Amino acid sequence: MKKYIGLTTTVPIEVLFAAGDIPVDINNIFINDQDASKRVEEAELAGYPRNVCGWIKGLYATVLQKEKIKKVIAVTQGDCSNTHALMETWQLKGIEIIPFDFPYNRDPDLLKMQIDKLITHFNTTWKKVLETKNELDKIRSLVHEIDRLTWETNQVSGFHNHLYQVSCSDFNHNPQTFKTQAQSFIEKAKAQQPYPNDEIRLGFIGVPPIISNLYEYLEKKDARVIFNEVQRQFSMPNKTDDIIEQYRLYTYPYDVFARIEDIQQEIKRRNIHGIIHYAQSFCFRQIEDLIFRQKLNVPILTLEGDKPGPLDARSTMRIDSFLEMLR
Ligand code: SF4
Repeated sequence: MKKYIGLTTTVPIEVLFAAGDIPVDINNIFINDQDASKRVEEAELAGYPRNVCGWIKGLYATVLQKEKIKKVIAVTQGDCSNTHALMETWQLKGIEIIPFDFPYNRDPDLLKMQIDKLITHFNTTWKKVLETKNELDKIRSLVHEIDRLTWETNQVSGFHNHLYQVSCSDFNHNPQTFKTQAQSFIEKAKAQQPYPNDEIRLGFIGVPPIISNLYEYLEKKDARVIFNEVQRQFSMPNKTDDIIEQYRLYTYPYDVFARIEDIQQEIKRRNIHGIIHYAQSFCFRQIEDLIFRQKLNVPILTLEGDKPGPLDARSTMRIDSFLEMLR
């Protein structure tokens, strides 16, 4: 019987699909939950401190709520400094944890060993994994096309760009259905009138936002996100037939400098006017803001979000001033 395997972030899902199991990115389940704020409260009631990131609290409570998820692959290196404690609190509740590490120095042998361990755990083979990669790459190409239609022909909104790319972490649990949806979305997008030329073109960098209406608000103000940095990485934009290389070129779990190189390249290619650096409250990644500010040569707005929900008044005022300044 197919098993639902929770993920704390993007991992080589080829292994899970090859094994006939179903990967479930817990982040996506949490943030699309009508009661996402309630999940955060549940974690706090269970004893999670107030000053811990909202995503971590949401992930914790979401897994406990979803009875189908009995096993979670937790990325212990390359994602979040809170994952160890998160794993321990799940273990306390009887959830089985499979740790996965992205080696900090991108060592191909170490990465191969990590994937090997997953293959052994899920009782599949390299042959099946590579066949699955070929199939998933075809779907990823559709998402790359959606990305192109966002920045090159200006026919896709920042939100849909975010949505399709962020969904590549688990293909919404069913790659074939996702593929059909992406194909029909592309057809409709190609028939759309392009966005006007005088809009402000923004890049969004950092972890995906916990804020529900950010893209919508920006478009209301004639600005559009045409580059979603981390979400784009989930779609594996650097094409290669080698699966080890694919997860080495994926920038998110490694050092910030490769991410910066990717961002600089896309700022130029996409003609980006300004960057929104999203920093989650209580996230260690907030420290990286100082590096982005030194290395990127376009105006940057650092926007902080805490709990799930719409933009607060202070953030809307800061966005308004930023857009005014860019104009
Ligand atoms: S936002 Fe930061 S602290 Fe929160 S889960 Fe992501 S990496 Fe961890």
